Order: sequence, then C-alpha cells, then structure tokens
Amino acid sequence: MHSGWCGYGRDTPMTTLDTRIVYGARCGWWGSIDEVAATASGLPCCPYCHGVLFEVDSEETWWAGARVYEAEGHPGYVAFLEQNRGEHFPTINALLSAYEESCT
Ligand SMILES: [Zn+2]
Repeated sequence: MHSGWCGYGRDTPMTTLDTRIVYGARCGWWGSIDEVAATASGLPCCPYCHGVLFEVDSEETWWAGARVYEAEGHPGYVAFLEQNRGEHFPTINALLSAYEESCT
C-alpha cells in the first residue's frame, strides 16, 4: 500500500536530495521530508504529535505558497515561517495566533 513511500529516493542519484517539504494537516509543524517520523504502519507523520502530513514537491513550491498567502493580506508571513521552521504548534490556529502576535 505504501510501497511508493518506502521506495522513495531509490532511483535518485546520491547527489540529489529529496526536496519535498511536508507540513502538518492539523498541526503547525513544517520541515523537510527527512525530518518526519513514521506511524506504526509506516506512513510519514509529524515528529512531534504523529499527526498526518501534507507535502509539496520542493521548498520553492512551499515558499511560493507562503508568498501567495502573504500577498493576500498577511504581511510578514514568509518571515514568520522562516523563523519558526522546526517549531511545533499543536494546531493550525496556534500557528496563526503566533503569527498574528508576531505582527503586533
Ligand atoms: Zn504535529
């Protein structure tokens, strides 16, 4: 079922890193694919709360999304994410609250 995940990177040259960025579906953690933990069934999950993750294909895609969000009326969001890389927020709301506090 998850053989695609387990086999990831096998065909990738040693010099090429897996560039995927993952982020919590329910929590406010984000980081690179090699920072994830795995559930008992082997699925990638948040290293802090073991929550489900979403992924984007590269850091460029990640920041492009963050820039769109910032442009939609959330000044400083990109800088906030940069500063909070590796931080764990238990919910998306906790992350957004921290962001809003950083703006004031
Ligand atoms: Zn988490």
